Amino acid sequence: MNTPQPANIFRSAPAAPDKEQFTTLLEQQEVKIERIVSFGQRTPDGEWLQQETGEWVMVLAGTAQLSFEGEPRPLNLAAGDYLYIPALARHRVERTDNRNKTVWLAVHVRGRQKSPARGDAVIETVKVIRSSRRRRTVTARFEATTMEVRVPHTISEAKLKEIIAGFTGKLQRKLLKKQLNARHDLAQVAAALNKQYFNGALKLNRIEYVTDQFSKFGCCDYRARAIRVAHHVAEMPVWVRDYVLIHELAHLVQPDHSPAFWALVNRYRHAERARGYLLAKGYELNDERQQE
Ligand SMILES: [Zn+2]
Repeated sequence: MNTPQPANIFRSAPAAPDKEQFTTLLEQQEVKIERIVSFGQRTPDGEWLQQETGEWVMVLAGTAQLSFEGEPRPLNLAAGDYLYIPALARHRVERTDNRNKTVWLAVHVRGRQKSPARGDAVIETVKVIRSSRRRRTVTARFEATTMEVRVPHTISEAKLKEIIAGFTGKLQRKLLKKQLNARHDLAQVAAALNKQYFNGALKLNRIEYVTDQFSKFGCCDYRARAIRVAHHVAEMPVWVRDYVLIHELAHLVQPDHSPAFWALVNRYRHAERARGYLLAKGYELNDERQQE
């Protein structure tokens, strides 16, 4: 056996690549580790990246800005910052450093995804209808396992592929949302937590799982008294899910993250441990940017 030799992630990185450089460092059945070197590259305007598998990514050098669909503000990443991009999350690289290279370490985790990582949407057939009368509009219709997509006849294959992926993802998220809310009675769990931690004093109008929040785990609309819980929370241990619910329920009393708010949340026995869990998963603990 040859003795394993160390390699250095920075040494062989090109100084100023004119396009993003991807190098696979390790590839095994369920995991792929990759180095990405960027130099000012960004996702083109109007385009989103979406992957079938989750990706854990860390900036080792340089800076970047990443945004998720539906989120008002992009996330700034500097050396040492890492986060997890869940499967199917639509995201884009808004910016990478254009004076120095940005070196990323990406870990792609494949397979063994327990349901409900995605909806049961099974599209077996994609029918593409190219219309010469259409200039821009793109529509999709679903019937059982068939998706019918109508596009302008001038559309490129690459664009078409992206459109199909977009529609498929949307359908999957819609179905997943339905499944999750049918399978889990969040209102019942919230009622029990309300009783245990808030003397049953909270008035909550609506609580549901949603599938369009990727970088946070929940949000609370104080005025509508409605709570939205991100779908990935359904896959977390129950004590973490309960922490997320208590956090959001406490916002019905304290809309901000004031000391009074944390005093309410910290009455939960596993609060500290749950925060550690969420941090390790790469979630921000200040779940909301600005709440209306
Ligand atoms: Zn919060």
